[in-house]
Amino acid sequence: MNPGEFRPTTAFLDRDGTLIRDTGYVADPADVELLSGAAEAVRLLNEAGVPVVIVTNQSGIGRGYLDASAFRAVQARLESLLAEAGAWIDGTYYCPHAPAEGCECRKPGLGLYVIAAATLGVEMKGALYAGDRTRDVLPALSLGGMGMLVAGEGGEYDGPVSSDVVRAPDLLTGVRGLLLVPEDDP
Ligand SMILES: [Mg+2]
Ligand SMILES: [Zn+2]
Repeated sequence: MNPGEFRPTTAFLDRDGTLIRDTGYVADPADVELLSGAAEAVRLLNEAGVPVVIVTNQSGIGRGYLDASAFRAVQARLESLLAEAGAWIDGTYYCPHAPAEGCECRKPGLGLYVIAAATLGVEMKGALYAGDRTRDVLPALSLGGMGMLVAGEGGEYDGPVSSDVVRAPDLLTGVRGLLLVPEDDP
């Protein structure tokens, strides 16, 4: 599937390294920094009528680096920064477990997508699954959507991934390609 041939039913977006700078277990709202173009990417999806859902592994909670209230404070800061840019998130789902707990919600597990679909009434089939790690895009392959791997801040791509997965240097470039929004469109 090529960009432009696909209009997502839902956009499932990773958070750290995709929407905000991945400083490693972000626990302080003061550390929340939107990546370049991220707010505009979300706004374009909002304007296209595509529900935007954050799905994020937060093993820092299970590892004891932050608690759920710190996560919520970071989330509030992120939503406030997005709101300043006229963008919003329709739902956020996170896995609080450490990898050793063997849960079903840690990506690439499908648990969070299933819960999001059930509680928000959004579609998994035909959705966009975007993030900076292979685990963010792998669910697309089993759930019938499009995987979009965005490059890390150094420009490198996590991998390997199937050739069905689209690569984008950043989320905004990828979303523009998907929605056929020209770069000079304000
Ligand atoms: Mg990430
Ligand atoms: Zn989990």
